[in-house]
Amino acid sequence: MVVLLGPPGAGKGTLAESLCAAFGFAHISTGDILREEIRQGTELGRRVSACMESGALVPDDVVTAIVAGRLGQDTVRQAGSLLDGFPRTVRQAELFDRMLASGGMALDRVLLLEADRDLLVRRLTARRVCSQCRTVFNVIFQPPGRDGVCDRCGAELRQRPDDMEATALERLAVYEEQTAPLVAFYARRGVVVRVDAGRAREVVHRDACVALGLGVLSAERDGKGS
Ligand code: AMP
Repeated sequence: MVVLLGPPGAGKGTLAESLCAAFGFAHISTGDILREEIRQGTELGRRVSACMESGALVPDDVVTAIVAGRLGQDTVRQAGSLLDGFPRTVRQAELFDRMLASGGMALDRVLLLEADRDLLVRRLTARRVCSQCRTVFNVIFQPPGRDGVCDRCGAELRQRPDDMEATALERLAVYEEQTAPLVAFYARRGVVVRVDAGRAREVVHRDACVALGLGVLSAERDGKGS
């Protein structure tokens, strides 16, 4: 079980997609799960949408319950999991510890993606996501072949509301204040490995495989990744 840690815009989702495509891990992205709840108009989605659009974190108990549900699935337990976006506060990390202990599971590694703040802001505000297949593009670093159109499925590309500049800055501030303390929390246990996320996705994938002690398999199998 691996936790991907890093600021918004570091490429956690992209790396998670390529590692899961290469190694068959279950990808547990709390952000993706919450966005899907909002898209489907569920009660949970209505509860968290204002919070997410402002760049704030949703309550610890909400995300912890989501992760507990996923980790309880047999298929997820067998595949091994890649957690992307959880835990995000020290409180969540403590609840996660309890969840793992009661389920007889253990956290193997925390992979920290590091990138320069200016690059993070540029990446976040230039990010576009396919409205159908969720493939992620970047109008500066990874532009689609046709403006506003997904290369993979032809659907319309959209900007996430929380990728607008003011919200992106707020999310970075929230990361520094609430999530960055997790680096020290996990470093004390000796499980943190670091990767420079400021490079091309294929290079980050390769470095992550080395850091995690996995044989390097190509990210190409995932096409564009996300
Ligand atoms: P992400 O896609 O991981 O950047 O998450 C998008 C948004 O979802 C965050 O800005 C939060 O509002 C919410 N979110 C995702 N994961 C968590 C979490 N572990 N704790 C609290 N809020 C979360």
